[in-house]
Amino acid sequence: MSPDEFYARAMRASDPQGRLPLSRMTGWDIFPFEPDGLRVVPLAPPELPEPDRSGENGRDCPACAPDRAGIWADEHWRLLAYGPSGAPLLLILEPRAHHDLSDLPDDRARELGLLVVRITRAIESLPHIARAHVSRWGDGGAHLHIFFFARPAGFPQLRGTCLAIWDDLLPAVPADQRDQDAAVVAQAVTRFYGGRAQPG
Ligand SMILES: [Zn+2]
Repeated sequence: MSPDEFYARAMRASDPQGRLPLSRMTGWDIFPFEPDGLRVVPLAPPELPEPDRSGENGRDCPACAPDRAGIWADEHWRLLAYGPSGAPLLLILEPRAHHDLSDLPDDRARELGLLVVRITRAIESLPHIARAHVSRWGDGGAHLHIFFFARPAGFPQLRGTCLAIWDDLLPAVPADQRDQDAAVVAQAVTRFYGGRAQPG
């Protein structure tokens, strides 16, 4: 289906203002909004070529900055704590060299598989965390970045993909508590995988 066909199909399902009806996800018990009064933003027509992402082709890439601070690093990878976050912890894993997921060299890809498992294990070893949600979208920045959302224990309502929205709605966790959790996770990643924890 071409972009124009995709758009025309969506428009046929939309109202005269181009708004799609509420559907599926809005009925989930984990959906963060009540459907009454909620309406869908009109879908914009296709835009081709797409605008560049931040750091596209490595130009002015913020993730390539040599002094980028992280909570953990080794020769090829860096783990950063992102804030403010409503989730107890929001971590970002990125390669030190400029790659996207689709052009990651095989050696880095093997490391990535292990790192996703070991970082998840480190986050889920925190007693107040039930799950680490792992995601990669890659539409904002061209430099590969994998998100780890720590889902707090005892909140089934925060299960699943909507945690990325709840993260924005919940009040930001205090920086000192976030930093404390991040330091524990950085030490655990060092034990489980190698590399070294870094201050702040
Ligand atoms: Zn980069």
